[in-house]
Amino acid sequence: MTEKGKLLVVSGPSGVGKSTVIGILMKLRGNMEFSVSATTRSPRPGEQDGVDYFFVSRERFDEMVENDELLEHATFVGNSYGTPRSQVESRIENGITVVLDIEVQGAAQVKEKMPEAITVFMAPPSLDALESRLRGRGTETEETILSRLETARRELLLAPRYDYTVINDVPERAAEELRDILDKN
Ligand code: ADP
Ligand code: 5GP
Repeated sequence: MTEKGKLLVVSGPSGVGKSTVIGILMKLRGNMEFSVSATTRSPRPGEQDGVDYFFVSRERFDEMVENDELLEHATFVGNSYGTPRSQVESRIENGITVVLDIEVQGAAQVKEKMPEAITVFMAPPSLDALESRLRGRGTETEETILSRLETARRELLLAPRYDYTVINDVPERAAEELRDILDKN
């Protein structure tokens, strides 16, 4: 029988560097796949449908919820996001480690349904560093940046609910810490 794959759930405020660090982690460690979420948000320049997200209409998203196609879902700063079951369940059964980049409400839903999930909260070295990363990325309007920073203040309070907290000071170091967490679980 194949040993089951692990489920790694990474949350953290927008702009903290989750995508960057997960990208490095996936190069460091084999036998690991990223769970591509469905979202009603519009693609950013360079984002590809089916790679970064499945970009879907509100109608299609609601249909996925209705049909129980999503393992979890939540609203984040005006858009809906959800994890398709198809991204997670069969891969874990086949021994592949799956990594989810999802916000705090979704992470709580996953931990409840799959208590074996390893949950990691990624925190910035400071709120100022977070703001400059979010601005530096240059992908959001001023209004969205302010909403995301406001949300970040609330999210940071939830770090103690996670199994681990990793500070993203330097992306390569943070990725190595995530790899070590996976190796010891
Ligand atoms: P998230 O996925 O958490 O929203 P991103 O991975 O898109 O965040 O990173 C936001 C911005 O911060 C990007 O421009 C990225 O290059 C930059 N960044 C990521 N990690 C660090 C770091 N440790 N130090 C400085 N900048 C970083
Ligand atoms: P962004 O719009 O910056 O890509 O993502 C915004 C937030 O949505 C991030 O906190 C990200 O982790 C979260 N997110 C992405 N996909 C999902 C998902 O499938 N479910 C949930 N609950 N959150 C998600």
